[in-house]
Amino acid sequence: MISLRNLCKTFETANGPVEVLKNIDLDIKKGEVFGIIGLSGAGKSTLVRCINLLEKPTSGEIIFDGMNLMKLSRKELLKVRQSMGMVFQSFNLLQQRTALKNVCYPLEIAHVPKDRARKKAVELLEMVGLADKLNAYPSQLSGGQKQRVAIARALATDPKVLLCDEITSALDPNTTRSILELLQNINRTMGVTIVMITHEMEVIEQICHRVAVINGGRIVEMGDVKEVFLRPRSETAKQLILPKS
Ligand code: ATP
Ligand code: MG
Repeated sequence: MISLRNLCKTFETANGPVEVLKNIDLDIKKGEVFGIIGLSGAGKSTLVRCINLLEKPTSGEIIFDGMNLMKLSRKELLKVRQSMGMVFQSFNLLQQRTALKNVCYPLEIAHVPKDRARKKAVELLEMVGLADKLNAYPSQLSGGQKQRVAIARALATDPKVLLCDEITSALDPNTTRSILELLQNINRTMGVTIVMITHEMEVIEQICHRVAVINGGRIVEMGDVKEVFLRPRSETAKQLILPKS
């Protein structure tokens, strides 16, 4: 579904070039929940932003659904982005719009007729458990509810993939669990592939099938979650997984 080949990203800064991603090779399969874990500054957000070209890689390839994204025109890329939903830690909802209007937003951009957009948005908000909050503004919602709106919005254009960057980091443990259950449900019933960026081991353990451990812009370990948790090999994985004594 998503293949990254020799992906590199260097930022030019006032202090010279900073190499943030180094030769990343990764294959994410259709229908899986794939975790990417690493310490702060490891390059996780940059990596996920490169997948949908919010950030342009310095070199390498991104193959999505058989298409080489680096070779697409801007117009083609905008179309492909509709099949990649993105959810962030900070929700990024439009404050002046109700929950319903937030979910309608990507459909408006895609020129979906108003009544069809509204119907779809209502269905999605019902699906994420917010049937009674259609007309609430973000400021009137809890963190978990805001994240549910953001998830519904990301699903509006029927994406094949959901890219999630630290989406539970601002939530308490119970809310985190319920959001992860929702994602698991979406993965199982709608078949949406999920890429889950996090620094929280519990998140990986609860919903991911496979995981890549990233450190200093490199993948230092990759495998089935059970296997990596049972026998972490890299120093980073050991540091993240093994209980502190
Ligand atoms: P966190 O867990 O704290 O979110 P992360 O793993 O997501 O960290 P990134 O945000 O990908 O890390 O950042 C990786 C490195 O790239 C950091 O050292 C950061 O300073 C650097 N970086 C990110 N964006 C830029 C930019 N636009 N210009 C220069 N350096 C950047
Ligand atoms: Mg980050």
